[in-house]
Amino acid sequence: MYRIIVLSLCLLGISLDAGAQVESCDVTLTYIANEGTLIESSGTKILIDGLHREYRRDYSFLPDSLENRLENGVPPFDGIAVVLVSHVHRDHFEAAAVARFLDKNDQAVLISSPQVIDSVRAAGSTAPMETISLTSTESVALTPHGILTTGVLPHSSARFRWIQNIGHRIDFDSISVLHVGDADINRRNFVESGLVNDPVDVAILPYWYLISGDGRRLIDETIRPGRLIAAHVSPADVEEVRREVAQHYPDATVFGEMLGTTVVIEQKCPDE
Ligand SMILES: [Zn+2]
Repeated sequence: MYRIIVLSLCLLGISLDAGAQVESCDVTLTYIANEGTLIESSGTKILIDGLHREYRRDYSFLPDSLENRLENGVPPFDGIAVVLVSHVHRDHFEAAAVARFLDKNDQAVLISSPQVIDSVRAAGSTAPMETISLTSTESVALTPHGILTTGVLPHSSARFRWIQNIGHRIDFDSISVLHVGDADINRRNFVESGLVNDPVDVAILPYWYLISGDGRRLIDETIRPGRLIAAHVSPADVEEVRREVAQHYPDATVFGEMLGTTVVIEQKCPDE
């Protein structure tokens, strides 16, 4: 069951032409920190799980100078149109950071779960926000290119079942990208989410999916991505995780160097 919300970014006063960006239809995925990813195509920038601060040393986070640039919308973080957050755990999300970002970036809209939206409102933000449904798969058109589909993917571990964990799928003109937050490795959840009815081109997954038997079965039989990105890697474990992942998926990319690991997927512009 799909409910369609068409977000008019123009009505929200968003200029997608701001800045001197080169408008390419290629889809560029830049590692921010932990599961944070900046996705860019056709001049539209979308940030998933990118706004968090120091939480625990095991989880990567941007140094203060870069975090300040991000929250203030200073290049390369200028013109971000859409902010998405998988869930409220602080290695993915910091309410004060999102509130500050929205205050400094009035071109941006936050689209997320009730738990995330409530937290950002409680942090004092009155910026535009869209709350997504937890009972059905939703699609939002991100103009000019890109359709965002959201669905609930319950968080791993029984003690975190109270967490609203959202999976995000973005279908650009011919490339689709999936980000799952900290979703449990559970085939039925993925099927019920509606996010993987069609195979995805790029899946951004916690690295443990790629190194566990159950995770690989889910990847190979249900998610079926053309390209894999392993995220949520502790800074101290990057080389070890790269070795382990390479045993199973030699072509996978492991997000390890903040702002230094970028994946570019070629995509032709629609009228080429
Ligand atoms: Zn979590």
